[in-house]
Amino acid sequence: MSLKGKTAIITGSNSGIGLGVAWEMARAGADVVLNSFSDRDEDHALAKDIADETGTNTRYIKADMSKADECRALVEKAGACDILMNNAGIQHVAGIDEFPMEKWDAIIAINLSSAFHTTAAALPMMRTAGWGRVINIASAHGLTASPYKSAYVAAKHGVVGMTKVVALETAEEPITANAICPGYVMTPLVEEQIPDTMKKYDMDRDTAIREVLLDRQPSKEFATTEQMGGVAVFLCSDAATQITGTTISVDGGWTAL
Ligand code: NAD
Repeated sequence: MSLKGKTAIITGSNSGIGLGVAWEMARAGADVVLNSFSDRDEDHALAKDIADETGTNTRYIKADMSKADECRALVEKAGACDILMNNAGIQHVAGIDEFPMEKWDAIIAINLSSAFHTTAAALPMMRTAGWGRVINIASAHGLTASPYKSAYVAAKHGVVGMTKVVALETAEEPITANAICPGYVMTPLVEEQIPDTMKKYDMDRDTAIREVLLDRQPSKEFATTEQMGGVAVFLCSDAATQITGTTISVDGGWTAL
């Protein structure tokens, strides 16, 4: 599968799943636009490493996905967008009656509204190019719920719903829109949850991972960022042309329970 000549924008890609997907997209030949809200030398160095290793024109563009105008400006600054992966996301865990209002607003803005703004800006470019792929990183929490994750579950269900709408609005065009729904993938977002889980359940690290974090993941293994990249590259292939408006679970059996 060659993505040579395609530009892939991946929001929230200086770490975790976004970075793993960026590597796989660039290995397949795409020029990748990495993104986050910071503008550090390390961010640009990540893009340079990928560009040097894969021979692609991979760049880093700073944009804060909590801000509508910056979401849209990211796409404009990239100058082209054949593949849009909406991946930026944050988490906060608290009971709904204690959930901080500013955390709710931030999660809805970054995990859901950013995908609306980037998609709105990217679709005209895809239409002009005559080809496009919208790939949203939702979650098993886009299909099922867990307690204490009200904003995250609401945002991810919203992403799945919006993915279906984008697919229907582009159904007769050479553009597809799908959502990947990962279970647990070992990334900084998950790493951050381990100390609290150990403390809350008075468990050592391995027990907290197996019995709490991976409790609902029957494979008892984390998915990898490379596997997420492989699924994303597949969604860009000719074989996936008629896959649109759906979810692809990569969750070790979670949603089969
Ligand atoms: P991560 O913390 O490694 O990555 C999150 C990325 O989003 C980072 O690059 C971060 O800089 C970026 N980001 C955060 N706020 C931003 C903002 N305001 N503007 C721009 N970028 C911002 O976490 P991850 O696990 O790689 O998560 C990536 C996506 O995958 C998220 O949407 C998450 O909900 C989803 N997801 C993760 C898992 C998992 O187990 N790791 C499971 C299901 C879904």
